[in-house]
Amino acid sequence: MKRTGLDERQFTKAFSKAEIQASVQKLADLVSADYAGKNLVLVGVLKGVLPFMADFVRALSIDPEIEFVRLVHQARDRTSMGTVTIVKDIQLDLRGKHVLIVEEIIDSGRTLKFLYERLKSAEPASIEIATLFDKPRRRVVEDLPVRYVGIEVGDPFLVGYGLDLEEKCRNLSDIYALKYPN
Ligand code: 5GP
Ligand code: MG
Repeated sequence: MKRTGLDERQFTKAFSKAEIQASVQKLADLVSADYAGKNLVLVGVLKGVLPFMADFVRALSIDPEIEFVRLVHQARDRTSMGTVTIVKDIQLDLRGKHVLIVEEIIDSGRTLKFLYERLKSAEPASIEIATLFDKPRRRVVEDLPVRYVGIEVGDPFLVGYGLDLEEKCRNLSDIYALKYPN
């Protein structure tokens, strides 16, 4: 049994490995059906998407191309757009291909709004967004078209399955929630 390293007084289990995997499979079934016979490119957003992407691609019954981007978002405050910098870009030409952006969680939506607009300008045949978790109440951007959502959550800060606690705990198979957000 892997030790979580999390303080049980601060964190409580929110989603079990089995619940997460069931949600991943459900999303994979939807995407497999919708993109059957199409040229699909998955664009994963590093680093948090790593475990989800690995499980998601293996749960698909179609065979997509896989790319990754890494973005750094400097927020001035919660409501402003701040600046988003691309630390690692995609190498592939997206023109005429069907693009599905893959995220593990969407919060304010600012990082994804930036990426969505940028990839759209590469003239793909279509562009959609899939996320394992969504925090719709936290959204500050308008018109972010999120087509595939695994699990809707409220405000709590989540840790595990790619979601970090100061860059650690990404390798946990279960997800934990902070009990008392400050
Ligand atoms: P957004 O631009 O939507 O505000 O930021 C999305 C990113 O913030 C996610 O991809 C993730 O890296 C991080 N994030 C959002 N909510 C959480 C959370 O509950 N826990 C952790 N560890 N990271 C989160
Ligand atoms: Mg992410």
